[in-house]
Amino acid sequence: MEQALADFGAPRYRGRQIFHWIYRQGVTDFGAMTNLGRELRERLAVTFALGPPAIAGRQTSADGTTKFLLRLADGRHIETVYIPDTPAQTFCISTQVGCAIGCAFCLTGKMGLVRHLSAGEIAGQVRVLAHETGLAGTAFNVVLMGMGEPLHNYEATMKALRILADEEGLGVHPRRVTLSTVGILPALERLATEPLMPNLAVSLHATTDEQRSRLVPANRRYALKDLIDACKRFPLGRRRRITFEYVLLEGVNDTPEDARRLVKLLNGIKAKVNLLPLNEAAGIPFDRPDDDRVNAFARVLADRGVTVSVRKSRGRDIRAACGQLIVEGERASSGQTLALAMTSEQGKGQRALEQGKGQRAKGKGEGKGRRSEVGSR
Ligand code: SAH
Ligand code: SF4
Repeated sequence: MEQALADFGAPRYRGRQIFHWIYRQGVTDFGAMTNLGRELRERLAVTFALGPPAIAGRQTSADGTTKFLLRLADGRHIETVYIPDTPAQTFCISTQVGCAIGCAFCLTGKMGLVRHLSAGEIAGQVRVLAHETGLAGTAFNVVLMGMGEPLHNYEATMKALRILADEEGLGVHPRRVTLSTVGILPALERLATEPLMPNLAVSLHATTDEQRSRLVPANRRYALKDLIDACKRFPLGRRRRITFEYVLLEGVNDTPEDARRLVKLLNGIKAKVNLLPLNEAAGIPFDRPDDDRVNAFARVLADRGVTVSVRKSRGRDIRAACGQLIVEGERASSGQTLALAMTSEQGKGQRALEQGKGQRAKGKGEGKGRRSEVGSR
């Protein structure tokens, strides 16, 4: 911005002032930037556009989770989720419209990749939501777990993290940011050299190449052993650990044998495991294991000294939970059309549930209580 202002013939420090207005104060109207002279404000307003993402819709879940539909400059939409009190305030943001990876259990994957987001669009989600929720200036967390694979959009993602970290703006320290990835190895190696490094979460989901290649197609390119080796080399601060996310799919990857293999695989890594019982959706050909199965899996890990937690799904009633973000009407791939047709049917069922008219299919629970730590090293 300093450079842009210098090119524009205004002193460089004006760029910093404008950055402050936009990110710290949430002001997007040049006219309201009162420490800039009136003439400069008028010139800026005709030359530059300060705009999206703009809030195009919102839905609040019974648990307080709010899903925002944000409209971008080109009219495309993304979803960004505000998750209160977990216990921190957390924004779950997107890095792409859709996703190219196509994991077998993820609705976003069914969209295919529509396009990458720019750094401004990634950071802009936090800017808009932090001001909308009144949290700007407070300490909140950011997780890159919305739509998209952050390491597939590396440059823009890292630039967004630098924008967010700037003390002149929102001052979100990278320690408060978690980047979740399937593990695109060249990008992961590069991340290991970044001066501003977020927390790392690796979406593992399986313990053999055969199993993982079926669930996470990127595994066909980057084998499990290489991913684990890259994690072993990944530089961590003294108190940091890598989180391994593991979506539990009934009868597919949730047996005690899988759990034991997982313990072995993570041996020698400062790791914690976050179990994600599948958020079911029509169009996703897997089932969510019941709580007993989830607990049994967690118990195997905990008994062997692995720190494990079970993620409580937030906002499932509004399709804001992990892997459920999908935007309608972007690009009608056949998978997307199918997923949308089926989820809107499911949505009707869920609304009925909220009104107390029905029981959840198969009587499976929503996962009781808060995110629960069941063991620690
Ligand atoms: N693309 C990145 C980040 C976005 S997905 C990644 O895959 O890591 C964030 C998390 O949600 C991932 O761990 C992903 O595996 C998980 N997820 C996707 N679909 C899900 C579903 N249906 N139920 C539960 N978790 C899911
Ligand atoms: Fe993409 Fe992540 Fe969904 Fe896989 S789980 S399709 S990487 S968003």
